[in-house]
Amino acid sequence: MPARDTQKEKFYRAERGVFGYWEDDSATLEDLREAQQYANRVTSSKVWLQLGGPRFVLVKDGRSRRRAAMVGATAIAVPRWARQEAMILHELTHILMFRLDKKAAYHGPQYVLMFRVLVESMLGLDKRLELDHALEEGGVRWGIDGSNRLQTTLQQLEKWG
Ligand SMILES: [Zn+2]
Repeated sequence: MPARDTQKEKFYRAERGVFGYWEDDSATLEDLREAQQYANRVTSSKVWLQLGGPRFVLVKDGRSRRRAAMVGATAIAVPRWARQEAMILHELTHILMFRLDKKAAYHGPQYVLMFRVLVESMLGLDKRLELDHALEEGGVRWGIDGSNRLQTTLQQLEKWG
């Protein structure tokens, strides 16, 4: 059983502030095919593979869902509004965490750390810094143990993984 997901709402709020989730026009990927292409870009990236992510993650239609979600160890489902880069990264981070630590809280400090790594590598340092700012403001913790926050580096990730 994973640890309790105590900072979920805080994380969602910070994330939404930066990426604009839940707005009607927030989809930036045209269709399921584009969403799959974007996921493929992530899962073939050096950072993703170094972190131990699977080489392919299937993007499924999220038609009956309100939210995007991980559906099994190598698939995600994304409703239309959620077809945007950062949301794909959000779900792919769940795939990664499922491999790395099944006991970690779904949106806990380790999850947020990984999400930041993917945001920086796929969307750039500016976006990651913007996200960091929102996370700090919103009291969202990240890091191996939730206390090292800004000092966390990929080197620490290697030790942990
Ligand atoms: Zn999530």
